[in-house]
Formats: sequence, C-alpha cells, structure tokens
Amino acid sequence: MTRAPVGARVRALKPSETLALSARARELRAAGVKVVSFAAGEPDFDTPAFIQEAAIDAVRAGHHRYTEVGGTAALREAIARKLERDQGVRYEPKQIVVGNGAKHAIWNALFTVLEPGDEVLCPAPYWVSFPEMVRLAGGVPVAVAPSPGDYKVAPEDLERAATPRTRMIILNSPNNPSGMVYGPDEVRAIVAFATQHDLLILSDEIYEQLVYGEARHTSPASLGDDAKARTILVNGVSKTWAMTGWRIGYAAAAPEIAKGMERLQGQMTSNAASISQQAALAALSGDQAPAESMRRRFAARRERIAEAVSALPGVRLRAPDGAFYVFPDFSEAIARAGGRFRDSAGLCDYLINEANVVCVPGSAFGMEGHLRLSYAIADEEITEGVARIGAALARL
Ligand code: GLU
Repeated sequence: MTRAPVGARVRALKPSETLALSARARELRAAGVKVVSFAAGEPDFDTPAFIQEAAIDAVRAGHHRYTEVGGTAALREAIARKLERDQGVRYEPKQIVVGNGAKHAIWNALFTVLEPGDEVLCPAPYWVSFPEMVRLAGGVPVAVAPSPGDYKVAPEDLERAATPRTRMIILNSPNNPSGMVYGPDEVRAIVAFATQHDLLILSDEIYEQLVYGEARHTSPASLGDDAKARTILVNGVSKTWAMTGWRIGYAAAAPEIAKGMERLQGQMTSNAASISQQAALAALSGDQAPAESMRRRFAARRERIAEAVSALPGVRLRAPDGAFYVFPDFSEAIARAGGRFRDSAGLCDYLINEANVVCVPGSAFGMEGHLRLSYAIADEEITEGVARIGAALARL
C-alpha cells in the first residue's frame, strides 16, 4: 500500500494523555505493580444504587430501541428543570441535545458552529481535548495564558489573543486541571469580552456541582438574554453522579444551534444509549443526597491532598475550589533535576519509574512545570502517593 493508512487529520491528532496515563496505571496494576494513580479523571465511587436500579428497571421495561436523536422527552425535560433550578436558566427541552458524554456534546457544539479557520480561545490550563477537537472541527485553537502565577484568565489576557477571526471562547469552570472556579464578576467580565467581540462561549460545566467552601458555580448563560444566546452550555451526569461509563452528557443552546447539533448527531451516532438515558433521568430527578455525600467526601480529600502537597519542599500549590484535581507547580523540582528530565512529562515519567506514582503532566494542559493529581482516589492512597512523590523528589 503506498497511501498512508491513516488520513492527515487523524495523523495530526494527539492521543488523549489523560486517558493514556489512566491506561498506563491500569496496565502496571495488572502486572502486579503497587501503583498509586492520580491520573484518573473520574470518581472512584460506584453509581448510587437507586440509579443502578432505574437502569435495571429500564432494561426490563423494554427501553431497547432508538429514542429521539437528541434524547427522550422525559430526560430533556428533567435537564431543563435542573438547569432552571441550579443555573437559573430556562431552556425549552428542544434546545437540549443529549449525547454520549459531555465530550460528545462538546464535539457536537464545535463541529456545528465552527467555520474552517475560526479561532477559538482556550484559556490555559485547558482540558486536553479542547484544542484537539477544535482542530479536528476545522478551527484553530489559540491558547491564552493567564498572568504568571495565576490560573484564571482576565479580559486583558483574552484581548491580547483576539483577532478578527476569533469566533469562540471556551470557559471551563470549575476547571480541569486547576480546580479553579471563576467567580460571578470574573464570568461577567468574560461575557462582556465575548459580547464586545461578538463571540460564542462554550461553557463546559461538567464539574459544576463539585465546588467547596465558599465557591459557587456561575454559568455565563445565567447572565442575561444576550449571554444566554451566545452560550453553549455543556454538562452531564458523569462526575456528579459517578456515571462516567454510562456516557450521558448534554448541550443546551440557542434553538438554531441545538437543531444543528441534533442534525449532526443524527448522522453520526443517533441517540445516546437508551438505558443510560433512563439512568440519567433517575439521577437528575431523584434523591440528590448521594451526590451531596460524594461531594463531601471529595471536599475532605481536597483538604488532605492540598495539605500534603503544600508540604512538599519546593512545590507550590494554589488550593483549588472545585472539581477533583490539584495542579501544583513543580518548576523548582524540575530545575533541580540536573538534566535527568527537563519538563513536566519527564517528571511524570520519573515518578512512574521511581515511585510507581502516575500523574498527568502540565504540558498536556498547556501549562509546563505542573502536574495534575486527581484526588478521586482513596484517602490512604492520597497520603501514600504524595509521600512517595516527596521521597522521589528528595532523591533528586
Ligand atoms: N475528563 C477526564 C480527565 O480529564 C476524563 C478523561 C478524559 O476524557 O479526558 O481525566
């Protein structure tokens, strides 16, 4: 065969490092290595029992066939109620498109609205898949760095990156990987910037319910009619309800955009799994207490990991307000490595080889010098893993 077997678009696509490192941890574990993995971007809890029961009931009740492409009427109504209750935004059910996870909803949104060459502002640190999906959809991702030492971008940072080709900004708060939460004034400032430049806002709100202390999530869609019209709000049940494997996410948007996303999905995947939709319906309309109890467990783990990581010599941590990640700055440790490794990917390899600890390098999120540690793991593992990192750093 003389032709390249894989086409240029997929040749240019980077593998997802979050998924690759989670897989690496699984392989090592399967080989009998006592690994502590901070790589996984998913809750370690089981899906609450009442949701499992709803899925079993759905199988027995005969939910075996295609549903409406954008989701069952009951699920879209439940999502509309949830968005009104929690975000204070009213959507008609037909403005909501349910897909195979929030990741799919993001893809639907990008592919539906972007024209070739449209620039998309991706505030750093950004989730690994944003730039890759933007590129695949024909757009141009533009990373926007916050001021040094900061983890949230301000309008001035965005202003420097904006051009006449800029079409969209991706806001992800609470943020993966930094755990930072944009406060109401910060979101308002970003909306003002978007309005001034006539941009769409893709708001990835998947960690919305995982906020701690005084932090509260603000959706840009809640800040008035114009803000709502330019926002594509993405969320799902994966993180709040420990349902990553069920693959249910959704996007809510202006009617024309929602129609476009549904048309796209109709040619790609059809509906999300019917049983999973019934499970998601139970999660959104049932008892919210199990979600709150998982959130409290994360809150306690956040304290534990923040304290342990902050005590590591030369490591700087801005304590996060949301999600289940910490994103400490290891630049000093990297500088001390004396050429053994030069960057966050090198440090990550060093920790896997020397300490059997798996993290995700900051380079994957567009911010060198850092590592992402997920604390969606058992308390003892957090303590053990950070101790191992400390011992490995001390050997440098
Ligand atoms: N969003 C999670 C993470 O960042 C899950 C893995 C993925 O889809 O990237 O680790």
